[in-house]
Parts: sequence; C-alpha cells; structure tokens
Amino acid sequence: MRDRFGREIDYARISITDRCNLRCVYCMPESGVKSLRHEDILSYENILRICRVFAALGIRKLRVTGGEPLVRKGAVSLIARLKQLEGVFVALTTNGILLPKTARELRDAGLDGVNISLDTRNPSAYSRVTRGGDVRLVLAGIDAAIEAGIPLVKVNCVPFGEESRLDVLQVAALARDRPVHVRFIELMPMGPAVKVFAGVDNGRLREWLEREYGNWTPLEGGLNKGDGPARYGSLPGFQGKIGFISALSECFCESCNRVRLTATGLLRPCLNRAEGVSLLPALSDSDDGRLLADIRGAILNKPERHDFTTHKEASRGIMSKIGG
Ligand code: SAM
Ligand code: SF4
Repeated sequence: MRDRFGREIDYARISITDRCNLRCVYCMPESGVKSLRHEDILSYENILRICRVFAALGIRKLRVTGGEPLVRKGAVSLIARLKQLEGVFVALTTNGILLPKTARELRDAGLDGVNISLDTRNPSAYSRVTRGGDVRLVLAGIDAAIEAGIPLVKVNCVPFGEESRLDVLQVAALARDRPVHVRFIELMPMGPAVKVFAGVDNGRLREWLEREYGNWTPLEGGLNKGDGPARYGSLPGFQGKIGFISALSECFCESCNRVRLTATGLLRPCLNRAEGVSLLPALSDSDDGRLLADIRGAILNKPERHDFTTHKEASRGIMSKIGG
C-alpha cells in the first residue's frame, strides 16, 4: 500500500530477538543490554500472523533480523513458514557467525537472500569492533552461503573513520573475488554509535575505491526493483556490485519503502523516530480486523523523512533492538 506521501511500502524488517552473540561497539554497550524476557517477545505464531497481514497489504519483501536472528531457536523454521506466503521474498540479516552451520538449512528453507555484516577482514580489528568476534567464522559463513546456493548474498559494511581505508578496500574485494554484492553503510548516530567514532561519508569511500579499483559506474535501475535506499554500481572486473547507503550525506527518505517490527511487537514506520504502534492489543483479538487497521494506520502515518540532526539521539533507541 502507499503512505500519505505516495511511497509504495512493500518491505518489512522483522526483528525476532534483541539478543546477540556479539557486542559491536557502535551497536551495543559493553555491558550488553538487559535482555527481554522470552514471554515479552513475539511468538513465531504472532510473527506469522502479522506477516500474513503485511502480505495482504502488499508487502512483498520480509527481512528477518535482530539482535542476531540466528541465535533464536527455530529461526530457520520461521523462515520456511514465511516462505509459504505467496509471492513474498524472504531475506535474512546476520552477523554470519552461525552461517557455516546453518547456510544449507537456510537454503533448504527457501531463503531468497542473506545480508552478512562485516566491517573489516582484519582479525584483530574485527575482534575489537565486535568485542571478541572471530572473523574467520564470518568469512567461512559468506562462502557457506554462496556454496549452499542462497540466491542473493550481500555483505554490509559500516566503515569506521578515516583509518578504515584498508578495511574498506579489503571488504570491497569480496565482490571482486566472489559473486557477492558489497554495500557500504554510513554510521548513523544512534545509541552507542554517537560516542564511538566518526563514520566516513560515502563520497570519501567512493574516492578510495576508485583510486584503487577504477571508476564506479552507477547501475541504471538499481540491482532489483525495490532496492530502497541503496545505490549500486560496478567496478571494473568485479563479479558483484558495490552499493552505498547514505543515511546522512544524502536523504533517501523519498524512496523509503519500509516499516520495522520490533521483537516486542512495536511497528515503527521510521528508523529515526521512536514512535510506533504496538500491535499487541490487536493480537489479543481472535480476528485480524484491528491488526489490519493498526498496520494500515502505521503505514499511512509514516513520517516524510528522518532527521538525524534535530531528533534527539535518545529517542531513536539502539540498533540491536530495532534490527538495523
Ligand atoms: N546482528 C545482525 C547483524 O549484525 O547483521 C542483524 C542486526 S544489526 C542491528 C543490522 C545492521 O545494523 C548491521 O549491519 C549493523 O552493522 C548495522 N548497524 C548497527 N548500528 C548501526 C549504526 N549506528 N549505524 C549504521 N548501521 C548500524
Ligand atoms: Fe549484534 Fe548485529 Fe548489533 Fe553487532 S550489529 S551487536 S552483530 S545486533
């Protein structure tokens, strides 16, 4: 369906847990965050019920995220059940740590695409940024996803400051050497990210990449219909595309096509705004009338644009709870 600014909202990100097996410095405080109780997160039955209503309203793409979605028991079965919704593309965003073990099951469940987060291939830098993560597992996870035959494999990288030039070049090279697309995402000033380090603007990244690998040629029409905020292009000789998501240096709100469901059942129409509609009251009804009306209302009231300069940082919450 369209929102009141005429944008087609056809994409929902579904956070299935706030828990994570890493503690990225820009996403979670070192002490972690107090985990939600199991009874406070949506059951898989309720997630499926909401997703059926999403599909009835024209949502064609669902992305399962977290926290780390693969740490929640039964995540693969949820994906298989979401795939039973007709005409819906089902994707996953993961830190990749558990992918070496699960890539095949995910492919068998019908997963259409996986986004794997990787900010650096350098083992000690990765361990520092994730507070203890083992980058070898993520690299094996990327290869496992390709080998399993998951149709669309992407790597998401958040560069951290001017000193990350080499990390950026090395992560980009994954798209040269493998059939994966690499996207660079500007660090958004949310939660711990505000205090940790400055991000790098995507214009600067493009300079680094072009100096090393040649001209980045924009891809007319994008990678797929409904790319949302990513702008894709090719570098000479690369198998995969290189994309940029510029939340700060360019406003992509005009093409924003998404809503976000938190693990507690809050439907958030904009990443940058704390407000949302709790779907819990409607889930207590035996029919879907109120659920449909609440979701439709939240989509209609999607704000026109985010504003990272005037909205208070505290109002945005932390990414591990929103799902990225
Ligand atoms: N744990 C999974 C993962 O890391 O892919 C899924 C959830 S995580 C919150 C989703 C994405 O949000 C990751 O790619 C992460 O790098 C990104 N992210 C977290 N905090 C961010 C911030 N302040 N600005 C930009 N991206 C952020
Ligand atoms: Fe966990 Fe993902 Fe946040 Fe890192 S970015 S702490 S992997 S939820």
